[in-house]
Amino acid sequence: MTTMTAQTPWDVIIMGAGTTGLMAAIFAAKRGGRVLLIDASPEVGGTLLVAHGQVSAAGTKLQAQKGITDTPQQHYDEALRISKGTIDKDLAHLAIFNAAGMFDWLMEQGFDVRPDCPVMSEAHEPYLVPRYYWGKEMGKSVVKVLAKALQEGIDRDAIALKTNTRITDLVQESDGSVTGVKAVDGNGASHAFKGKNVLLAAGGYAANPTYFKELCGIPLFAKAAYSFNQGAGLQLGVSAGGYARGRENYLCNFGWILQDDKFPSPITGRANTYPANRPPWEIYVNANAARFIREDEPSVDVREHTLLEQPDLRYWIVFDQTAFDKTTPIVFNWTKADMEKAFETHAMFTKADTLDALAQKIGLDAAALQKTVADYNAGVASSQDKFGRKHLPARLETGPVYAIRNQGASVTSTVGLAVDEQLRVIRPDRTPIPNLYAAGEILGGGQLQGNAFVGGMMAMPSLVFGKLLGERILPF
Ligand SMILES: Cc1cc2nc3c(=O)[nH]c(=O)nc-3n(C[C@H](O)[C@H](O)[C@H](O)COP(=O)(O)OP(=O)(O)OC[C@H]3O[C@@H](n4cnc5c(N)ncnc54)[C@H](O)[C@@H]3O)c2cc1C
Repeated sequence: MTTMTAQTPWDVIIMGAGTTGLMAAIFAAKRGGRVLLIDASPEVGGTLLVAHGQVSAAGTKLQAQKGITDTPQQHYDEALRISKGTIDKDLAHLAIFNAAGMFDWLMEQGFDVRPDCPVMSEAHEPYLVPRYYWGKEMGKSVVKVLAKALQEGIDRDAIALKTNTRITDLVQESDGSVTGVKAVDGNGASHAFKGKNVLLAAGGYAANPTYFKELCGIPLFAKAAYSFNQGAGLQLGVSAGGYARGRENYLCNFGWILQDDKFPSPITGRANTYPANRPPWEIYVNANAARFIREDEPSVDVREHTLLEQPDLRYWIVFDQTAFDKTTPIVFNWTKADMEKAFETHAMFTKADTLDALAQKIGLDAAALQKTVADYNAGVASSQDKFGRKHLPARLETGPVYAIRNQGASVTSTVGLAVDEQLRVIRPDRTPIPNLYAAGEILGGGQLQGNAFVGGMMAMPSLVFGKLLGERILPF
């Protein structure tokens, strides 16, 4: 039976029983390792408890069963294409070329993949081959599989799990090598644990508005990250001699409708700004009351990058009564009655009899909005839109008029700890800090997605790197 004393070094101490940490613990235990898995939260699963858990993987058995021809090389080439070459090529290669093994294992364990998967992509710039998967209960479907495998490791006494316990410090020798951690449990008691290896798998900092702003230079607008992910692992890695990278890759999505202006604000809904799915009748205006993009721009990535250039990453979806009457509601899964109610009650939904009144209510320059709409209407009349918009169904002229405020945001961490190809935390001179490893969102989305949202390239690398670390990378 495994004994947990402060004197016996664990083969690996894992900070975080989430996406990465669970996989690392399960596979290290399968390999015969003694694992101490510590999480600040009362339950295991981390971000998967709140996230979609969509993963991408090429060359899977499921693809083969469905007659889809795909290879990791094609996946890798597409990740390079979508990110315009800005991903970390070594890390992306490691993740992508091991993704099918991870996904096939999930399936063997009973992962309840959605029957229509794999698909090309949903919210992000699409892949050219269907290689995108998720479970019926989104991220929780992955947690179910991992929790079962974790329990097997616990039952064999190969894994000791400590929840409600926060790692606060790394123990380092004078040469910088890491030999353990210090932690505080739910009762406030302090503990010290020795480990031959320490894996930082504590997720990102996307639930910490101060740190988020400090690292990205952009406020944390939306509240959706796992609340325990405060950036503690990243801070420990940096204080041990590592460094953070990837700030230049911050990207916002094309917007959510937030509850209010108290940032980070919960997300009320998502507008269907996908022209292939719903051709737009509306125009989008920025804080200068100016249009900034053809609203039927087909590329998700172009839409996101264009919004990134707008003041406060914000725009208003403006439309008239004709558009309201003739189209489906622009908010996903909302009825017209839901929309009407929101225009009476919701801070981000504004209705007025005239454009001037609308501009005044939403705080935009009325003359500028009048001019923007007049220009747009002229483009509709001549079928020559100045942004090249093709879908020009009607002039915007019938009151009442409406505006919905949309906020570009990211709910994941772009900046992350620098590691080498063996996932060892490295110093600025690229030398590894002995015994210290990191994987998952702590590496920052900017490394595995570059300056784009590449489908499934956060959850998948977390799961894959956890598996590889446990299976073969961690030395014990
Ligand atoms: C709403 C949302 C939707 C998403 N959807 C997708 C998607 O569809 N596809 C995709 O690829 N990515 C998606 N992501 C991102 C992806 O899910 C995450 O990047 C990934 O799950 C993070 O895994 P992780 O192991 O790094 O962190 P986590 O799974 O969050 O695990 C970190 C763990 O560390 C623990 N911890 C934190 N601090 C401490 C401490 N001091 N001591 C001990 N434990 C600590 C936490 O409690 C947590 O359990 C989404 C993210 C969000 C927020």
